[in-house]
Amino acid sequence: MTRVFNFSAGPGALPEPVLRQVQAELLEWNGSGMSVMEMSHRDKDFMSIATQAEKDLREVLNVPANYKVLFLQGGALGQFAAVPMNLLRGKTSADYVVTGSWGVKAQKEAGKYCKANIVAKPADGKFNRIPPVSEWKLDPNAAYLHYTPNETIEGVEFPFIPDGKGVPLVADYSSTFLSRPLDVSKFGLIYAGAQKNAGPAGLVMVIVREDLLGQALPIAPSIFDYKQMADNESMLNTPPCFAWYVAGLVFQWIKKEGGLAAIAERNRRKAGLLYDYIDASGFYANPVEKSARSWMNVPFTLKDAALDDEFLKGAKKRGLSTLKGHRSVGGMRASIYNAMPEAGVQALVDYMKEFARVKG
Ligand SMILES: *Cc1c(COP(=O)(O)O)cnc(C)c1O
Repeated sequence: MTRVFNFSAGPGALPEPVLRQVQAELLEWNGSGMSVMEMSHRDKDFMSIATQAEKDLREVLNVPANYKVLFLQGGALGQFAAVPMNLLRGKTSADYVVTGSWGVKAQKEAGKYCKANIVAKPADGKFNRIPPVSEWKLDPNAAYLHYTPNETIEGVEFPFIPDGKGVPLVADYSSTFLSRPLDVSKFGLIYAGAQKNAGPAGLVMVIVREDLLGQALPIAPSIFDYKQMADNESMLNTPPCFAWYVAGLVFQWIKKEGGLAAIAERNRRKAGLLYDYIDASGFYANPVEKSARSWMNVPFTLKDAALDDEFLKGAKKRGLSTLKGHRSVGGMRASIYNAMPEAGVQALVDYMKEFARVKG
């Protein structure tokens, strides 16, 4: 067996100890006589898995007691619709700060349910920075203010939490969830697809302040109605049981690694190693303003795009997988989520140095 260093943007790498535990428990979970995949979600064994996962996530993220934690399906894209359907609460508009491709999609989807104002977006269309807050055209009557803390495709990450000025703040945390400590109390709602940094695909987590619940649009599908889901412990229907279980193991792994403070320190070092080399290389470039550079997704270009294929081939030979940039931006992208060890980033930098030396 050979496991590569997997730089995929999502589904992304999972911590090896988690995969080993899944392997060990695959045929029989904890004396239950069956796999987690085969359990009834109403069974006490699965209930204990689900409850423990929520408890661990609350502990890791320090989620205040007046927030519900939901384990849902439909991905972040589902939440692009669920957020307006649940949070409009009689209002007719919502504010969107757009700093990359996912923000574009979120705003567009919300437009089906309300007036979705774009309150800030780089005027030149270049998603390489956060527009200055002083230029944001916030509407005090908006139902909520939505933004994307980390734009996975462009590698643009907010270095701060915006101030909603009384309007509930909503954030698509998909690709930077659990990458560092977070003050949940600043948000009305946080959502995150699991498959970037927290588990396998098929699960999306929603953390929502209780006072925002209970006013979903009548057209909202029941499975997207936060109140109904909260009242039923996310089990109004069959939840994504296996993904929920694996995410729970990831939360336990984070605890064992020393919690989010320790994880953040490692992520900071990993990102620093890669950006410092890119900046110093003269051969590679990252287009994002330094203050807005993502810790999780690092896009970069080669001096000559004609060398891209050769770069990727050589990387693959060295066990450095899935470095091709998103089709909409080209170049390369190294996603260095929590599960990417420092040795993986070091191996990438070593290869980049070697390639630049030979081709530069
Ligand atoms: C991946 C991603 C999405 C889309 O998630 P799905 O689970 O595929 O719906 C949305 N937003 C961000 C920031 C992402 O990284």
